[in-house]
Amino acid sequence: MSIDSLLSSPLGPPACEKDAKALQFIEDMTKNVDEVQRRVLEEILSQNADTEYLRKFQLNGATDRDTFKSKVPVVTYEDLHPEIQRIANGDRSPILSAHPISEFLTSSGTSAGERKLMPTIREEMDRRQKLYSLLMPVMNLYVPGLDKGKGLYFLFVKAETKTPGGLVARPVLTSYYNSEQFKTRPYDPYNVYTSPNEAILCVDSFQSMYTQMLCGLLMREEVLRVGAVFASGLLRAIRFLQLHWKQLADDISTGTLNPKITDPSLRECISKIVEPNPELSEFITGECSAENWEGIITRIWPNTKYLEVIVTGAMAQYIPTLEYYGGGLPLSCTMYASSECYFGLNLKPMSKPSEVSYTCMPNMCYYEFLPHDPNAPALSRDSPPRLVDLADVEAGKQYELIITTYAGLCRYRVGDILQVTGFYNSTPQFRFIRRKNVLLSIESDKTDEAELQKAIENASALLREFNTSVVEYTSYADAKSIPGHYVIYWELLVKDQENSPSHEVLNQCCLAMEESMNSVYRQSRVADNSIGPLEIRVVKNGTFEELMDYAISRGASINQYKVPRCVNFTPIMELLDSRVVSVHFSPAAPHWNPEQRRC
Ligand code: AMP
Repeated sequence: MSIDSLLSSPLGPPACEKDAKALQFIEDMTKNVDEVQRRVLEEILSQNADTEYLRKFQLNGATDRDTFKSKVPVVTYEDLHPEIQRIANGDRSPILSAHPISEFLTSSGTSAGERKLMPTIREEMDRRQKLYSLLMPVMNLYVPGLDKGKGLYFLFVKAETKTPGGLVARPVLTSYYNSEQFKTRPYDPYNVYTSPNEAILCVDSFQSMYTQMLCGLLMREEVLRVGAVFASGLLRAIRFLQLHWKQLADDISTGTLNPKITDPSLRECISKIVEPNPELSEFITGECSAENWEGIITRIWPNTKYLEVIVTGAMAQYIPTLEYYGGGLPLSCTMYASSECYFGLNLKPMSKPSEVSYTCMPNMCYYEFLPHDPNAPALSRDSPPRLVDLADVEAGKQYELIITTYAGLCRYRVGDILQVTGFYNSTPQFRFIRRKNVLLSIESDKTDEAELQKAIENASALLREFNTSVVEYTSYADAKSIPGHYVIYWELLVKDQENSPSHEVLNQCCLAMEESMNSVYRQSRVADNSIGPLEIRVVKNGTFEELMDYAISRGASINQYKVPRCVNFTPIMELLDSRVVSVHFSPAAPHWNPEQRRC
C-alpha cells in the first residue's frame, strides 16, 4: 500500500497499513449504504428461502424489499417463542435458518422471567469479529501510541447451560471469548491485554477478577487504557480492589499467589507472571490504604489515556462515579451491539458520553426502523406501521430498531429506541435513547413495570396478616453504592397499629421482591454479586400526595397524573428521602439455579 493511501482516509490518517484497510472498509460500507442493505437482504432471503419460517409467507423465491415487507410480519421474541422452543428441544430441521444453529446466545432481555434465547450460526462469529476489528483503527485516529503499551480490560465469561436438545446456551461475550477467533488471535501491537486468556476464561468470578486485577497491578506502568464492557463492570473492579488490595499487595510483595486461586491452569499461568516486587507492593498499599480514592485509576495506572466502557443508555447513571475514580479521564463508548446481532461503532470514540452516536454498519444485518413518537398510541394490528429503510431515516427523528439477520430473525423488534443525529457518508448515526419497557437496571438486568408490580404484589402478601397494604410505591436504581441496588419506596396503610409489621417482616418483603425478579437479576445478585441487596424505604403517610402536588406545581395535569414507578430527578428523591421512616434490606440472596431453564 502506498504512503498516499495511508494518508487518504477521510476519517483521518491511519496508524498502519492494517488500519488503512479497515478504514477503507468503513468508507465503502457507509458510502453505499442502500446498495449494501439491498445485497444483505438478498443474501439472507436466498440463504434462508427454504426455512420453515420463510416458506410460511410464500415469498416464492423473491428477495426484494417490497415483497419481503408486504409478506413477512414484524415480530417480537414472544411471537417466535414456539419456533425457538422447538430448536432448543432438539429439532434440527431448518426452522429459522438454513445453516445449523451452532448455539443459543442468552440475552439480558427476558421473556416470562427467563433470559431470551437467540439462535445463532457459526458464520455470525466472523461478522462480529469484523466489527471488533474496526474499533482500534478508529481509536488510533484519536489516540496515538496505543501500540506502546497494554489494555487493562476486565472481561468475564459466565456459566454455560445446555438446552433440553443439547445446544449450548451462553451470553454472546462468553461465546466470543471462548471462540478460536479470540483465543488464538494473532499478535497485534495495538491490541495487547494485561489479562491472560486463562484469567478471562475462568468461570469463577472471584478468581477471574483477582487474577485480572493482579496482572493489571503488576503491569501498571504499561497500561494505556482501562476498561470493561459496561460501566458497572469497571466499578465492580474498583470495588474489588477496595476489598482485596491487601491480599493483592501481599502476593506482589512475596511473589506468591493467593491460595484462593485454585483453578490449576490459572495458577500455572499466573505463577509465571507474579514475581516478588516489594516496592510495587508498598506503592499499592500506600495508595489503597488512603482514605481518598478520588482519581485512583490515574494514580495506580498513571499512563492511562482513556477509560473504555459503555456509558450510554442505562449505564449513564454511572458517569459521575467513573469520573470520580477516573480523575476526569475521557470515557469512551466504542460500539453498539446485542445478542441478536452486532450493529455499529462510534466513529468519534473520544466524544463526550452525551454526544455519542453509533454508525450502524450496513453489512451486519438488514435494518428497518419503526418511527417512534413517544406521545402516539400503541401499535395497532389493524394498521401495519410503515417501516423505514436505513438509508431513509430522517435526522432528529426517533425510531424503534427492527432487524433481519443471517441467523434467521426476520423483522424482529430489538426493543431499542434510537434517534438519528446525522450521517457519515450516506449512513445514519444514532444516539441510543433507551430500551423500551425498562424501568430499573443496574447491570445487564432489565426490570419492566409489570415485573416490578408483580414483585410488589408478592411481597405485600406477607403484610396481609398484619392488616397492612402497600398504598403507593415507586423505585430507584441506586448506582452510587457499589454494587448498585434497587431501592423501592413504599407508603403503607397500617390498619392495626398494635399489630404492624416488624422490621424483620419488612426485611423479608425485600427478599420476597427479589425472589419475584427475573433470572438475570437473580443471577447478578447470586453468582456475580453485581447487584446489592434490595432495599425498601418506608415513607410517611401522605408522601405520594406530596409527590403529586409537586408534579402539578411543575405543570402536570391533575387528570392525567400517574405515580411515576421509577424516579431519579433530584428534587423528587430529596422529597422522598426526607419522608423515610424506616429502611429495610434483603437479609439473604434470592434463589438462582444455573441449570434451571424453562424453555
Ligand atoms: P443483550 O440482550 O444482553 O445482548 O443486550 C443488548 C442490549 O444492550 C441492546 O439491545 C441495548 O439495549 C443495550 N446496549 C448495547 N450496546 C449499547 C450501547 N452502546 N449503548 C446503550 N445501550 C447498549
